[in-house]
Amino acid sequence: MAIQRIMHFFEDSHPEGPCLVVDLEVIRENYLGFERALPQSRIFYAVKANPAPEILRLLVSLGSCFDTASVAEIEMVLEAGAAPNRISYGNTIKKERDIVRAHALGVSLYAVDCIEEVEKIARAAPGTRIFCRVLTDGTGAAWPLSRKFGCDPEMAIDVLRHARKLDLESYGVSFHVGSQQIDLSAWDRALADAASIFRTMAKKGITLKMVNMGGGFPIRYLKDVPTAQAYGVAIFDAMSSHFGNRIPETIIEPGRGMVGNAGVIRTEIVLVSRKAINDNVRWVYLDIGKFNGLAETMDEAIRYPIITPHDGDAVGPCVLAGPTCDSADIMYENALYQLPVSLSIGDELFIFGTGAYTATYASVAFNGFEPLRSYVI
Ligand SMILES: *Cc1c(COP(=O)(O)O)cnc(C)c1O
Repeated sequence: MAIQRIMHFFEDSHPEGPCLVVDLEVIRENYLGFERALPQSRIFYAVKANPAPEILRLLVSLGSCFDTASVAEIEMVLEAGAAPNRISYGNTIKKERDIVRAHALGVSLYAVDCIEEVEKIARAAPGTRIFCRVLTDGTGAAWPLSRKFGCDPEMAIDVLRHARKLDLESYGVSFHVGSQQIDLSAWDRALADAASIFRTMAKKGITLKMVNMGGGFPIRYLKDVPTAQAYGVAIFDAMSSHFGNRIPETIIEPGRGMVGNAGVIRTEIVLVSRKAINDNVRWVYLDIGKFNGLAETMDEAIRYPIITPHDGDAVGPCVLAGPTCDSADIMYENALYQLPVSLSIGDELFIFGTGAYTATYASVAFNGFEPLRSYVI
């Protein structure tokens, strides 16, 4: 139904070039779905997934809070009408002068994962609240976010104590179980760590208040995924088993799960060819690739559903590649897509599930290809 609205837009408006169309009605439903699934948690939309002003304004009106990673994202959210107390500066890697600017803009909640970052915040945003990000292993996620962010739980104790010593409020713990996480028990493992940090800190006289459970909520690409409701139940059960009846304040930070299924990209076939006369594998070159919107096909991590005008015809194996002169610009060549043998140059394809991490992952003009155009309806 929602997809029909997008398809009508393509038919009626004939937008130029490869482009993304995002439907706000789907995002509204997703937001309300998260509220229903996790009624005790505050929702901080991960702005990096898709910062289109229309999306930010809709979420402001629905009462969302926002997880941001830079001063520019903070400014976009403020511009959309959110008060600064609805914004978290959730990047653990911040320049001190950016913290100064965020603080001046009124932001008072910051992520850290080491003592060095705590010291920056104590200098640049004195008296504010910090939460410490802990590592997770990312198992079960299509797009793990481990290693780069977070520290081990034992080190988190030192980080949180240090913050207290520097007169910051040691507010809580955060984790991210990895993006497109389909293993419901991933939150359980992370919440066990969080609860143990809460207990250790309490023994040291510091009461933590908040667990930030990050994003990771998946959308359906080629395979079914558990519903928001199922995640809600799994998280609630894990919370009860690790925190008993002393459930802390919780935050979730959905990005993909908020906007991913709200977008469709339309692309055009530039060339269909083979690498040898009798090769049965066709190479299908699109006017969109890794550098103008499909970055998440890196390592073929995210496999998008693709609709062609010839669906129903006999199919054969295809490599899918982008239009640039970089040989890394191949989306799928290990696990081949089976596409109609009747595909030809000029055909338009629709790529579903592309509302998150597409427009923002497009390069500015690599090889002269413009960034992905996007329309919000
Ligand atoms: C990217 C990110 C998110 C969103 O993750 P999804 O898997 O898209 O839901 C949430 N929190 C933080 C800190 C992030 O960096």
